[in-house]
Amino acid sequence: EHGLPTPELSSIYSAVMRRNPGEPEFHQAVLEVLETLSPVLAARPELLDARVIERVCEPERQIIFRVPWQDDSGRVHVNRGFRVEFNSALGPYKGGLRFHPSVNLGIVKFLGFEQIFKNALTGMNIGGGKGGGDFDPKGRSDAEVMRFCQSFMTELSRHMGEHTDVPAGDIGVGGREIGFLFGQYRRMTNRWEAGVLTGKGLGWGGSQARTEATGYGNVLFMTEMLKTRGEDMHGQQVVVSGSGNVAIYSIEKAQQLGANVLTCSDSGGYVVDDKGIDLTLLKEIKEVERGRVADYAERRGASARYVAGGRVWDVPCDVALPSATQNELDADAARALVRNGVKAVSEGANMPTTPEALRVLREAGVMFGPGKAANAGGVATSALEMQQNAGRESWSFTRTEERLAQIMRDIHETCRETAERHGVPGDYVAGANIAGLERVADAMLAQGLI
Ligand code: GLU
Repeated sequence: EHGLPTPELSSIYSAVMRRNPGEPEFHQAVLEVLETLSPVLAARPELLDARVIERVCEPERQIIFRVPWQDDSGRVHVNRGFRVEFNSALGPYKGGLRFHPSVNLGIVKFLGFEQIFKNALTGMNIGGGKGGGDFDPKGRSDAEVMRFCQSFMTELSRHMGEHTDVPAGDIGVGGREIGFLFGQYRRMTNRWEAGVLTGKGLGWGGSQARTEATGYGNVLFMTEMLKTRGEDMHGQQVVVSGSGNVAIYSIEKAQQLGANVLTCSDSGGYVVDDKGIDLTLLKEIKEVERGRVADYAERRGASARYVAGGRVWDVPCDVALPSATQNELDADAARALVRNGVKAVSEGANMPTTPEALRVLREAGVMFGPGKAANAGGVATSALEMQQNAGRESWSFTRTEERLAQIMRDIHETCRETAERHGVPGDYVAGANIAGLERVADAMLAQGLI
């Protein structure tokens, strides 16, 4: 009933559903990969014989822990922490931590599963993992966030290490949280182990361009897709959702390349700005004041309008960059984008496009960059941070950004070429899934039954 093309794939998927009840996002992420694998499975029967796909769908280890902490008034709270160590065939587990009330095991598993393929596509030696907590940082003081991070790391520290598991940020975890987490890791272990976390501050082991990398990388991936049709970002009307780290630096790079970015959003609504988003103002509100996009509309003046509860996908555009969260772009939104003539969509967030929306975009011939490929610039630059830490080096912004740009061009070419070779030209989803799987599968087969 899920329409998988072979009985082998169907039975793999049924087993995943049976073994992981109540985890719809994880099922969705697995199904989206399985749907694209038949060309490679037909060519390489050893992948089925050795049950590589089943092994890739089963995390190596799943850690769930209690996170007790005290708020500023002395009240005790109990949250739940997670780390899913999914696959270490290519390197230490690598992937972010998400602090958001929606976090549960299924969400962390979907993110960790996607991370395996994404990290493989970067060409670097990093395995896949993800973690987080169901903590809501909204409205919490710095001191409360610090106490939560310290409690979280008190437990997580025993599972980490620069050669074991290397977390970073994700939704709700930025430079401030990485600082508190690193400090507690150091106290727990008595080790100044720079390579154990990425997204660190520039003065204590962080990398230039890491903050910008996910957003910049997504726009660079979009640029490569447009290039295959003889176009570039210049003059494109761009719609961005979200207003966190990925959205802000997508806007920055798109504007540097001459595009006109019309929108940004948060959970309350969106802003449309006819003159183009004023990034200085947006950064001030989001990065300094930790405010809302409604404040942006209020302070920007006549060119900007705030639409409470609305969705950016109704704003006509050439290029859409979903950069908020999973399943934010549904079939209805995809139909609105198509009706308004969208040419290309590239995922800054992880799995922002629902399967139904993807079908709508595909049928309309819209170019589509899947997050596994398009937003891999963040984790790739994390791997560059680890490389600098290992060599006790710190590279310039220009050098780091050039490395990022080359990695994004390589990822695009890998996806494009893999799709073409497997008879699905232009299908970046299939290209990313197949190329990612093959690199992980080859490592797993070479390392014995693991
Ligand atoms: N959370 C980011 C992602 O989804 C970055 C992970 C990392 O840098 O380890 O890829």
